[in-house]
Amino acid sequence: MNPDEEFQGLAAVVTGGASGIGLATAETLAARGCRVAVLDRNPGRVPARLHVVQADVGDAASVADAVRRAADLFGGLDVLVNNAGIGALGTVEDNADEEWHHVLDVNVLGIVRTSRAALPYLRRSPSAAIVNTCSVAALAGLPQRALYAASKGAVLALTLAMAADHIGEGIRVNCVTPGTVDTPWVRRLLEHSDDPEAERAALVARQPTGRLVTAQQVADAIAYLAGPLAGATTGTALAVDGGIQGIRTRPD
Ligand code: NAD
Repeated sequence: MNPDEEFQGLAAVVTGGASGIGLATAETLAARGCRVAVLDRNPGRVPARLHVVQADVGDAASVADAVRRAADLFGGLDVLVNNAGIGALGTVEDNADEEWHHVLDVNVLGIVRTSRAALPYLRRSPSAAIVNTCSVAALAGLPQRALYAASKGAVLALTLAMAADHIGEGIRVNCVTPGTVDTPWVRRLLEHSDDPEAERAALVARQPTGRLVTAQQVADAIAYLAGPLAGATTGTALAVDGGIQGIRTRPD
């Protein structure tokens, strides 16, 4: 199979597809022949070859309507990329219950809602796949990330459970676990820091590769998991984290 044509004839929905990792993923799938709908609460101006179905993954009715509109437009759905997510900094003492409810609602229930809406279409696809954007925070015990890490830990567990539930229907479910990715999200975080340069240097130093991950590197991993070339791969977490999870650069 020519990877450039891997997605020919297939259709995808990418949540959070208007920025960062999601936009790079939507563009990558489209470049490989996929018809792509970006589901985002704030679609802004996405390139013309991508379709837009505006919705908030925190709102079940809006998600169901957006997924149905995408499936109607394409005559079905083959790929769902659950990428929309929000961040939170702090220890368990820092975030109020309301913030916990909100972040878990978007990062975890957002995936549940979009998947529920897409599964009836995916079941009819000969090449169905779901890819969730998780995070190395689910695995690595990073400081000041209690809420975010808990939400992404749930995404990891949900990925494995969904892979088991839907394997009999021919639907593969995987996730990626990125390290720190140079996206508008991280740039916003740095802008609000007291010392952006020192903060950026600390983020880079955390990556054993000595570089931030690019949105394109994560998009390429998501595209691999979403496509027919990964036909034997389900229930996995693919690390795109510059070595954070697997490598110790000091002997201690
Ligand atoms: P980003 O802020 O650049 O893009 C996120 C997109 O999601 C935006 O277009 C935003 O409008 C959309 N979105 C947010 N909440 C939404 C909602 N409720 N409904 C619909 N759309 C919504 O962020 P990014 O860095 O590209 O992050 C994308 C995903 O990658 C997130 O799930 C994040 O947790 C994960 N991630 C990011 C990093 C990183 O370092 N940037 C690392 C690991 C994992």
